[in-house]
Amino acid sequence: MQWDAWGAPEKRKVLSDGIKALLQQALGVSITEAPERDPDDVVLAPSALSEKDQAALATIVGERFCSTAHTDRLLRAGGKSTLDLLRRRSSEPQDAPDAVITPGTDDEVGEVLRYCTDNAVAVVPFGGGTSVVGGLDPVRDRYAAVVSLDLRRFDTLLDLDAESGVATLGAGVTGPHAEELLGVHGLSLGHFPQSFRFATIG
Ligand SMILES: Cc1cc2nc3c(=O)[nH]c(=O)nc-3n(C[C@H](O)[C@H](O)[C@H](O)COP(=O)(O)OP(=O)(O)OC[C@H]3O[C@@H](n4cnc5c(N)ncnc54)[C@H](O)[C@@H]3O)c2cc1C
Repeated sequence: MQWDAWGAPEKRKVLSDGIKALLQQALGVSITEAPERDPDDVVLAPSALSEKDQAALATIVGERFCSTAHTDRLLRAGGKSTLDLLRRRSSEPQDAPDAVITPGTDDEVGEVLRYCTDNAVAVVPFGGGTSVVGGLDPVRDRYAAVVSLDLRRFDTLLDLDAESGVATLGAGVTGPHAEELLGVHGLSLGHFPQSFRFATIG
């Protein structure tokens, strides 16, 4: 998904002149297009994760699944509420998780949580990033650092009782992917929130 907007860029709709005129007339606003921003130009507060913590977390999940890269942090810096999207327009340094941890097994999740608990690192789980109530904000509070725990690798159908219609899906399975996994068995999740395309089971 785009870092500073809801949905997919190829589905973008432009406001018609009629709607723009109506908005101007009804609200008295002047309409200027916000210039598109290159994600690389967004300034993030530097990662506060210590080298020791980063090394320890990388040992648990593997080097490539413990990232402090700019784009990885930026993409998990918040949800998709209007306030979130407006905040992303700021040219001031923006807050973001200090690292993105992407575990691949239940044991790794347990180990990450244990390590972070013992070392004053806050953990914010990340599914599809569609929160609209601030649930993804990298709140530091009394913690030395905050990491995003991305659950995207939990993307399988774990168990299915077709007779009773009970399925166990990984936390990182998105709506369309759940439909694919269940569709093979002639079943459907039957839940289609507006955020279906990106929101996860978790
Ligand atoms: C355009 C739009 C339309 C929406 N429409 C609807 C709708 O129709 N119905 C509806 O109910 N909601 C809707 N929402 C809200 C949002 O999609 C839901 O809250 C959705 O369930 C969030 O899922 P996510 O995977 O994106 O979670 P995220 O946004 O990634 O996370 C949401 C919260 O849950 C936590 N979390 C995520 N995964 C886990 C996990 N595995 N374990 C523990 N905690 C976890 C996160 O830390 C965060 O606090 C909409 C949002 C948008 C932007």
